[in-house]
Amino acid sequence: MARFSKREMDELTVPFVVQQIEQQRPGWKAHRMPYEYPGYDIEATRQRDDRLLRISVKGLQSADFQVATDFDSYPADIQALVDIRADPDEPKSWSTFLIGHRSAAQLALDRRCVWLLAHATSSGSRKAKLRPSFLRTLGTEERWELLDNPDPANWPDPGPWRQRAREEAPIEASSGFSSSWSKIVAEGLWPPSSCPNLGSAVTVTGHRSCCGAVASNEA
Ligand SMILES: [Zn+2]
Repeated sequence: MARFSKREMDELTVPFVVQQIEQQRPGWKAHRMPYEYPGYDIEATRQRDDRLLRISVKGLQSADFQVATDFDSYPADIQALVDIRADPDEPKSWSTFLIGHRSAAQLALDRRCVWLLAHATSSGSRKAKLRPSFLRTLGTEERWELLDNPDPANWPDPGPWRQRAREEAPIEASSGFSSSWSKIVAEGLWPPSSCPNLGSAVTVTGHRSCCGAVASNEA
C-alpha cells in the first residue's frame, strides 16, 4: 500500500524538481503548474532565449515508475522521475531520472506490449512502466543537462534499448517462466499479429508501434 497519496507525492516531488532545475542549470527558471494541470507539472524557461520546456514529475514508492504514453493529448518534453524510497523525509537521499517523454513512452510501451502478450487474460489496464535500474543503465540519473539538449523529448534514442525494454517486462511467479519475454518466445507468440497495446484500456494516441504489428481494430 502506498504511503503517500498522489497529491502528497506531488507536494514532495514537484517543488523539489523546481528547486533542482534552478540549482543544477543556472540560466533556467522553473515554475509549478496548478495541481492536476493536464500533462505536466513544471514549465522551465531558459532565460537567454526564452526556450520553454514542459516537465512531468512522478514520484516512486513501489518497484517501477508509471509513464504516461498518451503524449499527443498530454504533451511533455521531459519526464522527471524521483525515487524517494531511500528516505522520504530527506531529499538529499533522493535520485532523479531525467528522460525524454517520447523515449520513455516508447520503452514503457515496448515493455507493456510483452507483458500483455504474456498475460493474455489481463484486463489490459496494466500501466506502462519503467524500472529505476533500467533508467540508471540508460544514463538518465541526475541528467539535468537534458534541459539543454536540442531534442530533449527524444533522448536517449530508444532504438538500441527496445529489446532490453521488452526483456524488462515482469511475469507472475506462478507462470513457471523467468520473464514475460522468455514465455512469449517459448510459446511462439513473438512477433504478434496484432499489438496488444492498441485497442486496450490505455489510450495510446501517437503510438509508433512497439512490436511492428498493426492494431487489432485496424487489421
Ligand atoms: Zn506492440
